[in-house]
Amino acid sequence: MEGGCQCGSVRYRLTGDPLGLAVCHCTECQRQSGSAFGMSLAVRKGAFRLLAGELRAFTVTCDSGRTKTCAFCASCGTRIHHQVADEVLSVKAGTLDDTSWLSPTAHYWTKRKQPWVPLPDGVRCVEDDG
Ligand SMILES: [Zn+2]
Ligand SMILES: [Zn+2]
Repeated sequence: MEGGCQCGSVRYRLTGDPLGLAVCHCTECQRQSGSAFGMSLAVRKGAFRLLAGELRAFTVTCDSGRTKTCAFCASCGTRIHHQVADEVLSVKAGTLDDTSWLSPTAHYWTKRKQPWVPLPDGVRCVEDDG
């Protein structure tokens, strides 16, 4: 699977099977996306390979109190991935070239979600970060 940023300078490839796709309704994800929620595709760190472009990073404190490192395209600022745990990256799933197969397996921080966003049946829904 490949993906990239909005301006096209960052390109990346993912190998192997992703660990899961989470939707996060926390205030940080709302701010980051400029929208109602964020999508995070968890992959092992070694599964992500930067093919082109330059990533820059900064750190923020999440609603959970943990520190998160956020990597973005140095040219256009598109967020590419987050890292909270040592061995796992959360790839911003909307940057994939093909997003047609994406199907979230969990929703987090539902207590912060916008009231007009419905939660689907049959998917793990957690009030905070679980
Ligand atoms: Zn870019
Ligand atoms: Zn979040």
